[in-house]
Amino acid sequence: MAIYSAERRRLMEMLHPGRHQVFSEVLSSLGAFMEKEILPLSPKLDAGEASIAKPRKALFEQGMTAIPFPVQYGGLGLPFSVYAMAVEMLGNADASVALSVEIHNAVAEGLLRYGSDGQRKKHLAAVISGKTLASFGLTEPASGSDSSTMATTAEKKGGEYVINGSKMFITNAGEASLYMVFAKTAKGPSCFLVEAPNPGLKFGKDLKKLGMRGSKTSEVIFDGCRVPEGSLVGQEGEGGEYAKEILHGARIVVAALNVGISQIAYDKSIAYAKSRKAFGKPISEFQLIREKIADMKTGIDAGRLMYLYAARIKEMGGDYTSEASQAKVYATEMSLKACDEAIQIHGGYGYTTDDLHRHWRDARLLTIGEGTSEVLRMLISRKELSRAQ
Ligand SMILES: Cc1cc2nc3c(=O)[nH]c(=O)nc-3n(C[C@H](O)[C@H](O)[C@H](O)COP(=O)(O)OP(=O)(O)OC[C@H]3O[C@@H](n4cnc5c(N)ncnc54)[C@H](O)[C@@H]3O)c2cc1C
Repeated sequence: MAIYSAERRRLMEMLHPGRHQVFSEVLSSLGAFMEKEILPLSPKLDAGEASIAKPRKALFEQGMTAIPFPVQYGGLGLPFSVYAMAVEMLGNADASVALSVEIHNAVAEGLLRYGSDGQRKKHLAAVISGKTLASFGLTEPASGSDSSTMATTAEKKGGEYVINGSKMFITNAGEASLYMVFAKTAKGPSCFLVEAPNPGLKFGKDLKKLGMRGSKTSEVIFDGCRVPEGSLVGQEGEGGEYAKEILHGARIVVAALNVGISQIAYDKSIAYAKSRKAFGKPISEFQLIREKIADMKTGIDAGRLMYLYAARIKEMGGDYTSEASQAKVYATEMSLKACDEAIQIHGGYGYTTDDLHRHWRDARLLTIGEGTSEVLRMLISRKELSRAQ
């Protein structure tokens, strides 16, 4: 099945009547590229037999990261929902490449929203085009969901800030040449850009992970890391708010990524259920297998509609914080269930075939990363209770 499927195309037509043809051309060309260059590589990325660098660079050259950014910085100036759909397709082709690209683009979004003219001029076009790979450092060894407890500091000394501390579980660490980093100054959490190489910037070992094995994750260590004062993004003390805003948008994209993971697990399950025979007929003939197929399909379609709804609110300038979190909580939990049912449908082969169970392993990260389900449920309920006043 084409990655830019008839179903995905129909949704673009419904969301963007009048403009969908241009968007569909972009998505269809990206989909064809993913099918040819990323999808076949995915098992090798999982097994550590291929590097993410080449396919990710090629994807940047195809304009994947440029989709939602203004033309003046080299972007394509297309709606956020088109970008989210592209990430869904990439999640279908390979989830770990999608994770790496999604984090990279979150930094571009941060630069666009909060960077100075000089910072945008220097970095934004390079990040959007993929010439510069970016990484986002908020989590620390002892500070995750509650980022107000961050211990990394940035002390102003003369015309520089000196950063000390470390960031944990950082995607693209060691590979990236630009780090958007959050550290405490005298005024509170603040946001900085750190360019690599820098003698005070070091990296831990590549962490061994359950899934998302194509992407790199490690600790980033700041050991008296000196950066010019112009590396401060926006205002001192405002970094915590910037991080929250960047993550709200990123959650829509993570929801899309999970829909993509679920879709490929579902497609494999349909094909297997039709070909595997038991008791003299294909297992797709059994009612209990059909129930699984019906529930998987319903969940995938619901997750897709939820992330597209949040994306449309964002591109229309509304408050999408609750909807983005709802989409992420729903799609990430749905995805785990769908990938688990895919293993069940495949029986013993589901448990023993890397190329099937890696979808569950990849999906497992995303009820944790970029806001755990527990913390997002708190955010959704807080927002909805305040809306109801
Ligand atoms: C592969 C991978 C890639 C990542 N990439 C990045 C990255 O690029 N940049 C980055 O900054 N971070 C990254 N992260 C970190 C990720 O965002 C954090 O793991 C996540 O935010 C959760 O933080 P934590 O692991 O410290 O868990 P904690 O915050 O310690 O949470 C532990 C448990 O307690 C629960 N909990 C916490 N507070 C509450 C509460 N108030 N009520 C109920 N339950 C609660 C949580 O939901 C969770 O179940 C990555 C993580 C992984 C594993």
